[in-house]
Amino acid sequence: MMKVIIQKFGGTSVGARDQRERAARKVLEAQANGYSPVVVVSAMGRMGEPYATDTLLGLMKSVGDDADPREQDLLMSCGEIISAVIMTQTLKAMGCPAVGLTGGQAGIITDESFGNTRILEVHPGRVVDCLGKGQVVVVAGFQGISKNGEVTTLGRGGSDTTAAALGVALDAEAVEIYTDVEGVMTADPKMVPEAKPLKIVSYSEIVEMAHLGAKVVHPRAVEIAMEGGIPIRIRNTFSDAPGTLVCDSSMVSDKTIIQSDRVARGVAHLMNITQVRLDLRADVNESGILSQVFRALADARISVDLISVLPTTICFTISDSVVDEAICVFESLGLKQEEIRITPGCAKVSVVGAGMRGVPGVMAKVVETLADAGVSIYQTSDSHASISCLVMKEDVLKALRGLHTAFGLGV
Ligand code: ADP
Ligand code: ASP
Ligand code: MG
Repeated sequence: MMKVIIQKFGGTSVGARDQRERAARKVLEAQANGYSPVVVVSAMGRMGEPYATDTLLGLMKSVGDDADPREQDLLMSCGEIISAVIMTQTLKAMGCPAVGLTGGQAGIITDESFGNTRILEVHPGRVVDCLGKGQVVVVAGFQGISKNGEVTTLGRGGSDTTAAALGVALDAEAVEIYTDVEGVMTADPKMVPEAKPLKIVSYSEIVEMAHLGAKVVHPRAVEIAMEGGIPIRIRNTFSDAPGTLVCDSSMVSDKTIIQSDRVARGVAHLMNITQVRLDLRADVNESGILSQVFRALADARISVDLISVLPTTICFTISDSVVDEAICVFESLGLKQEEIRITPGCAKVSVVGAGMRGVPGVMAKVVETLADAGVSIYQTSDSHASISCLVMKEDVLKALRGLHTAFGLGV
């Protein structure tokens, strides 16, 4: 029986030759430990580097603003294909038989919602054949093919999703996500230097953290692995640290280790948010405007968050990038300028942890901490495992650091 392991390497792990060699050594180590590795790669490097996803998007924009989503996906998919070829050649140069496959060749079948498609099925026959021949299979992440043969992409950060879907389809022992930090940490270490790596966390807490902005792993990837019962390990390509194990209590013998005694496991943030506040003259239910607003936004494919509705006020957030479209929607509904209040330049900071459920005083601690840090709160929301506050983007650092300390996350 083959013991399959998925090893996904992000853009910063495959950008330069020495990085690719470090990544390839992780693959050789897995082989030496008796695993058949399937490698998933992201496009090489970050913005500005020639084959990075943002560079390809910039190339598309240079032609004009109305990019065709189909053509844009075809272009973006090239970044991961280039990366898969170069990684395959790196492995071969190190004496390891390897073969590169596009997402489509690896059997990733998607719908046709270009730019943010979902995986419908995985047909991993070709991957299994190659593994059977002793080859390491290097799959281009972030992409698939529709039943009509169209090339699609899975949304930003989507190579993680490719890795998780292949992990489930191949019944892998684990999905390893290799990146440039020591695992999932109590905060983004670029914002909070004293952030600590978490040893073990439940799928549901990571899904919550990822949705709230911890972009170290894509939330969809965690959901797929959770449904398939495959553990994820998030690790640093450039160290031997064990990283973070993401699993549930049925997968570990000591059930207590996955349940933290802490109220919070981490803080997360999301930037580039605009608050919309519609202060209306009539009752939102009686006038019918409530359903008209949300239907019109849905038809314009504008997604909304942090929604709160009061008798004459509708409040929610949208991405900074769709403000102009949203204003057109409100005007088309006949709303007056004085009824529409738009506040760009906001950010959402969140405290996350399954342990906060039913514990009194968590909200008190959040608001007291932000008040002490001089941070104003413009809106809040909460779930069973998180409390989020909308703040101005220039206050994010102060807010994250204050909350990280107040909830004892750095110790
Ligand atoms: P990759 O290219 O490997 O997919 P990403 O940039 O998508 O890498 O994700 C890794 C980055 O996620 C880190 O460099 C870090 O800045 C950021 N990050 C945000 N929140 C967290 C967190 N809670 N733990 C670890 N990293 C985080
Ligand atoms: N290259 C894609 C992106 O930058 C996918 C990924 O890195 O996971 O979003
Ligand atoms: Mg990523």
